[in-house]
Amino acid sequence: MSFTLHGIGVSPGIAIGVCRVASHTRIEVAHYVLSSQFVDKEIARFDDAIGSVRNEMESLRKQIPANAPAELSAFLDMHQMILNDSMLSEAPRQLIRSQQCNAEWALAQQMEHLLEQFDAIDDAYIRERKADVVQVVERVLKVLLGHPDNLPSTESNLADCILVAHDLSPADMIGFKHQRYSAFITDVGGATSHTAILARSLNIPSVMALHHAHELIRDNEIIIVDGEQGVVIVDPDDNELEEYQLRQEQWQLEHQKLRRLTSSRSATLDGLDIELHANIELPGDVDAAREAGATGIGLFRSEFLFMNRADLPGEDEQFEAYRDVAISMVGQPVVIRTLDVGADKPLGGLTELTLNPALGRRAIRLCLSEPAMFHTQLRAILRASHYGNVRIMIPMLSNLQELRLTRLAVERARASLQADGISFDPAVKLGGMIEVPAAALMAHAFAEQLDFLSIGTNDLIQYTLAIDRADDGVAYLYNPSHPAVVQLIAQVIRAGDKLGKPVSVCGEMAGDPRLTRLLLGLGLRRFSMQSASLLSVKQQILKSDLEKIGLLVQKILRTTDEEKLDSLYTRLNQ
Ligand code: PEP
Ligand code: MG
Repeated sequence: MSFTLHGIGVSPGIAIGVCRVASHTRIEVAHYVLSSQFVDKEIARFDDAIGSVRNEMESLRKQIPANAPAELSAFLDMHQMILNDSMLSEAPRQLIRSQQCNAEWALAQQMEHLLEQFDAIDDAYIRERKADVVQVVERVLKVLLGHPDNLPSTESNLADCILVAHDLSPADMIGFKHQRYSAFITDVGGATSHTAILARSLNIPSVMALHHAHELIRDNEIIIVDGEQGVVIVDPDDNELEEYQLRQEQWQLEHQKLRRLTSSRSATLDGLDIELHANIELPGDVDAAREAGATGIGLFRSEFLFMNRADLPGEDEQFEAYRDVAISMVGQPVVIRTLDVGADKPLGGLTELTLNPALGRRAIRLCLSEPAMFHTQLRAILRASHYGNVRIMIPMLSNLQELRLTRLAVERARASLQADGISFDPAVKLGGMIEVPAAALMAHAFAEQLDFLSIGTNDLIQYTLAIDRADDGVAYLYNPSHPAVVQLIAQVIRAGDKLGKPVSVCGEMAGDPRLTRLLLGLGLRRFSMQSASLLSVKQQILKSDLEKIGLLVQKILRTTDEEKLDSLYTRLNQ
């Protein structure tokens, strides 16, 4: 029976394909009863799986570099302790024997039992260890299920497959850079979550916040995903199929037309050049940036080099990644943001499960508290600066002390390279992200001490409007044109202009053509976005007259009345 689901369209385009339903956050297991002659064999299968995870953890331990933060080792200790505890390694064996159930079922039952016990504990720290138990159990389940990752990723031809998941982490999405599904849909998530940002970087349709899609849709069902409207049609009838096939063709045609703009100059109708840079997550993304005509990398989210692995990337590995990007961009600017983990980008062993991770020890706060790790990254970036126009950018500054300490860390990295006789660009520029309202309000002070500023509107909106960017429950409050957000952006651009320091926007606002004229009118001359959005934004710039826009945006800045604002925005985009 055909039915339609509505969510948030986070990456445009239309896909029609066969569903692959993933269970990731909690691995789904089969439940079956064994005949008595298979019980011993099943217990042996369970013991083998425990043994294999034990070996896996041992080999992980051997790979930890000497300069890795102590937490990484402590994290492994904790997981080994959980694995070796009889509550996990012994109790399921008894369940298999007494209930004659399969090993996965026994382990899942025991996990639920343990989690209930954790819930009853008053101590918040101990209660938080629940997540560690789940992670260890998932490792064993994956071995029992016979594949290392429970995402349905083994098919060679995924081109017509649409992934349906309850939730996908940014780390999952990074994995999909190598396996092309034709679309993604999830039950949860917000439009500026990192998962959504990565979906856009893959340039495939994606809808989030569908709430029950994962329960309602079955493997192998045909679905239509409209990533623009946020609509998913399950088991479509012939009319719906025909209509969406037509829309898909139209979409592809429009895309082809846009490609003609790749080499055209990015300038407004009145002739002002506007710089269009690309955001990347991995060195391989540079190809798409160059194909789209980006004239620089405005944001290299370096944290994605740290994901989907048990160890931290060492200095040489990071250096090679940064150097490759610098060389590929042949002299064009490459802004490497220092590690920005935490909140919706957790990193096992480094970030903690705190009550409110978006307000916790993330980004520059975390780097400053892990000096050895930070030193390694800064040395790697500085080394890469010898091969191109590399710049360093600090995420999530909220006070000047953080800037002072970062500068000291950069100085230390430079001194150590000099002592080692290793070349780097002595004039490498240092910039900061303005993404905390406190930093926006005192942008002049940051602009005085930095070479450039970049406004991270995703976090700036999250913190200004007090909405978790990854929580679909408050996604309706996400509003980039909220007067408070617009005022803050205007203030940062003004501060940069006054001091002659370049300001860019590298949050998702920069890649939304409906907001291009607003940003132009606020004085923005440098945009950085996912490569997939670059040509639509360029198209908008080419049709824009700065003088007209400027007047309207000045009015917008003086208006708070919603109806008047609506009509001003309509006029602005006409
Ligand atoms: C932002 O916050 O706008 C930004 C560009 O950084 P990220 O999305 O990685 O937090
Ligand atoms: Mg940010």
